[in-house]
Amino acid sequence: MIFKKILEQKIIFPFLFTVYPVVFLLSFNIGKSDYAQAIFPGVVIISSSIILYLFLRRFIKDRFKSGLLVGWLFLSFFTYGHLYDLVAANLNSNLGRILVKPSYGLIFWMLLNVLIIYKVLVFKKAKHPLILFFNIFSLFLILFSSANIAIYELSQFLNPTSEDFRETSDDGKFFNLEDLPDIYYIILDGNASASVLKDLYGYDNKSFVSFLRKNKFFVSESAKSNYVMTSLSLASSLNMKYVNYLSEELGKNSREEIRLHKMIEDNDLVKLLKDRGYKYVTFSSGWGPTNYSRLADVNFQKVFLSEFSTLLIRKSAIGHFEFTRPFLRSRILFTFENLKKIERDSRPKFVFAHILIPHPPWLFGPRGERVEGTEITLTGDDWTEKEKYIGQVRFAEIMIKDVIKTILSGNKESVLIVQADHGPSSTLREEGRIHLQERFGILNAIYIPEKYEKNVKLYEGMTPVNTFRMILNTIFNENYAILEDRHYYTDVFRPFDFSDVTGELVD
Ligand SMILES: [Zn+2]
Repeated sequence: MIFKKILEQKIIFPFLFTVYPVVFLLSFNIGKSDYAQAIFPGVVIISSSIILYLFLRRFIKDRFKSGLLVGWLFLSFFTYGHLYDLVAANLNSNLGRILVKPSYGLIFWMLLNVLIIYKVLVFKKAKHPLILFFNIFSLFLILFSSANIAIYELSQFLNPTSEDFRETSDDGKFFNLEDLPDIYYIILDGNASASVLKDLYGYDNKSFVSFLRKNKFFVSESAKSNYVMTSLSLASSLNMKYVNYLSEELGKNSREEIRLHKMIEDNDLVKLLKDRGYKYVTFSSGWGPTNYSRLADVNFQKVFLSEFSTLLIRKSAIGHFEFTRPFLRSRILFTFENLKKIERDSRPKFVFAHILIPHPPWLFGPRGERVEGTEITLTGDDWTEKEKYIGQVRFAEIMIKDVIKTILSGNKESVLIVQADHGPSSTLREEGRIHLQERFGILNAIYIPEKYEKNVKLYEGMTPVNTFRMILNTIFNENYAILEDRHYYTDVFRPFDFSDVTGELVD
């Protein structure tokens, strides 16, 4: 039995241990990740672990000990964040906040490592049974996570989900391309409505609202989203329909956000506009579904760390240090900067930019300054620091004002939509109506060129599901029905378990 011999004698386990965090992260984010993103970090990790192993073997002159050290160091380095989250989640919240301070956690981790390195170095017992044990154990870990992925993929393969029904109303109307407006759809992720900013955050943004109104935007100060999660909201607004039917197809317990992600990437709106001769211009957001679009004619993209690599680093022992922050900052600045540089040409454009502020992490102060001394928490998005949230709202306002001024000074014939996908989340569901108002309250500002003024039917209380129904009706004289404006709450962990809170939310 060659296989048995290999398991008993060969040092395989360190490399299985080192690659385990990559496989684990893939299975942890099942249905959300793009497997190709794992190749680069996987190769980097494996090759550096081999180099470290060869290096240690020269010095320690013991292949078992060298392997054990490499396996342990990589594993503990990359699983640090998961353990940290586990500890943080299981501690009483007040005590937890003190005990899991990142610096304490890291000191504890380093002490533990010193102890383990010491123990391994002085270790003297017989090694062959242990090689077998570690080889089998590491193989089991990898197989367990891989099986998880394989089962998921197999179920996807056996139950292919039907293509989404595509609503078209093309009756052969002909439009001169040069007469059609460029359309900008800019999402400021998590940007609250004016009334939420005032009532819950004590920030009166009337100067921003009056800037928008002076520039002929339709702004509702208490606009609301249809959903409270990015993937639901964007899948809905970009396909111009409610997505509740998915809970019947996938089941209320489903966590298959990938369905929504596909609907965002290949959305009906873009297909329809492209059929009409539009060019699609998009920006890499840093968030999977809006990171890259194969439908796009132009994909503004700086080469940054992939989402997967960023997550891998964030969950590692150095995840609390802030070196992913400059990447996050420059991507956002890059998007604002380039939104101003898109020029009108012979074909009309649909420009879609999903910008990840004012959503945390806190990257910008009110004037765009770096926010120092804040920790990027590993336990999920922390919306509780209201002052920092407002800082980021104010910076987004400055930047978007500049974008609007530039676009409208060049060409008043563009359609501009500046919208949020959902509101912030500093309150808890238990707080009832306040929480719903916060989660659903969004910035929603729409500019329609003057020549369409007679056609346009904007109204107070209009929600994003109707944004493009209304805009297509206006521009192309379409007859999309305006849907009833409703609001559906979901828990992050149960994205398809919708509860209609329209009655609770709207007066
Ligand atoms: Zn969002």
